[in-house]
Amino acid sequence: MFFDRLVGGKIPGISLRGSQWLATIALGLLYVLSGPLTDLFPHARFGVQPWSAHPAIALVMVVYAGVGAVPILFSAVLASWWLVPVADTATGEFSAALVLTAVYLGAGLALDRTTNWRNPEHGLHDLVGFLAVATILALLVSLVDGTPSVLSGAVGERTEPVLFVRLFVGNLLGLVVLSPLLMYVAADGSRAAFARWAGGSALRDGVLFLIVQGGILELVFGLRLWDEFRMSYLLFLPVGVIAMRLGLFGAALALPLTQVGMLAALSWTGTSTGTAFEFQLAMLTLSVTALAMGVLADEQRRAAARIAEHELALREHDRALAQAQRTASTAELAAALAHDLSQPLSAIGTYARASQVLAQRGDADRSQLIDTLGRIAQESARAGQYVRRMRDFFRTGVSHQDRIAAADLIGNTYEHLSDRARRARIRWRSRIDPGLPPLRVDAVQMGAVLANLLNNAYDALADWPGPREIRCDAYRIQEGAKTMLRIRVQDTGPGIAPEVRERLFTPLATTKPGGMGLGLALSRSITERQDGRLWFDPEAERTTFCLDLPVQDPESPETHGGT
Ligand code: ADP
Repeated sequence: MFFDRLVGGKIPGISLRGSQWLATIALGLLYVLSGPLTDLFPHARFGVQPWSAHPAIALVMVVYAGVGAVPILFSAVLASWWLVPVADTATGEFSAALVLTAVYLGAGLALDRTTNWRNPEHGLHDLVGFLAVATILALLVSLVDGTPSVLSGAVGERTEPVLFVRLFVGNLLGLVVLSPLLMYVAADGSRAAFARWAGGSALRDGVLFLIVQGGILELVFGLRLWDEFRMSYLLFLPVGVIAMRLGLFGAALALPLTQVGMLAALSWTGTSTGTAFEFQLAMLTLSVTALAMGVLADEQRRAAARIAEHELALREHDRALAQAQRTASTAELAAALAHDLSQPLSAIGTYARASQVLAQRGDADRSQLIDTLGRIAQESARAGQYVRRMRDFFRTGVSHQDRIAAADLIGNTYEHLSDRARRARIRWRSRIDPGLPPLRVDAVQMGAVLANLLNNAYDALADWPGPREIRCDAYRIQEGAKTMLRIRVQDTGPGIAPEVRERLFTPLATTKPGGMGLGLALSRSITERQDGRLWFDPEAERTTFCLDLPVQDPESPETHGGT
């Protein structure tokens, strides 16, 4: 049961694929050969080498090939002891190999199960998991390795702890230094790992690393200007730099290279096993730090990539939003045109019908007919001008600046609506203060804004049983040094319905069955583009809308053209 849970219900790699066989055999050979290669220092009292590559190779074999690696692993363990006999391992060698293989298997499966170590994109979680598994594995392997020496009496009681600590550090160091790189090669396939190494600036960084690290080794161990041990910390610097630049892969490559360089230098200078052990302890600290730096650099790179991805998505979103807004504006323009063109068009229809009646009468009054036809021409010109100006405005944002008296703006707009006022029997009152400066606005657009306010007032009064009056006043207002002109439109209707009160000036707020709720929203945007303001006065007794407009600068006699 426990085993099942450990391996997640299935036993990975119980039968190996062709390439897995090859890789596992290659790792097995490496296991056997690494023994003599690490057997560099005099065996001294304990016969212990300051580092061992065995646990690292075995761990990678199991992570890579699963339970299927066991026969090769077991044979490799036996073969390595045959090549480099460690203490008195003749007795119980077979059972010791079995125990060791089981320990490797457990550690490999645990690592594979608890971390994503097989995936080349490692996170801090994976590194912590790896270090935990590596520590436990190093401990167990040290016990298996050291016990025969203790049992044979080769080690005194007092030195037993030293033996185990040295074995532990050597095994852990091997794991930390070697297994990340082996894992990369096994997980990625060596081709992918090489491509990563050779790609971009990695190759240049790698060559530079070799040169610098070689130079430092020569400085510390070759020239021996100072005590080697004191200066060996210089080796940390290039490893740190490469870990920051190339992430965990950089650290995984730099560590074995540094280790090989350091071991070569130590054995070449005839360093004693004890001193070599101290160097290896320093190397262990460096290795863990470099791996952590590499993982953090990778995580930072991934986070930066994610942020860049998000920014791209955000920009895409903004573009889509702007596009949607443009589409909405176009729809608003179309709706506004339909809304405001209906007035001159229905006036044209009415005048045309009247002309027809006049023309059919035998005693047609020619002057009345001509007058009615003239009105048709006037209305159609108004419609045409309106369409042109609105199109200009929405396409380019250009407003014309006309010099127009408030009385004319109000008079012209009312004139077009007067028929409606008469028919609905609505009283019209207007008071325009004398001596007002002329307005500086686009007369056509402002006419449309005012017409919209008046039409709303007419609509409000259409079925209103109470008093029916619209008032339109114009007077001067002073804002600091700035003079403006206010056109105030009031009606005695029922007032603004509560459901639209809060969003009067937002599109689609309407209470009218055929209404589009665009009139006030568009009127405000047109007014604001002309440095004016359109607002509803909730304090006033009657329903009151105010249009504050800029006046002509008294210095400049006339202004024309676009703003
Ligand atoms: P629409 O006229 O198409 O409804 P508007 O933006 O011009 O669009 O008006 C929005 C709403 O504001 C109207 O439906 C109406 O309910 C309210 N409203 C505007 N002016 C008045 C007014 N003078 N009296 C009462 N309600 C008004």
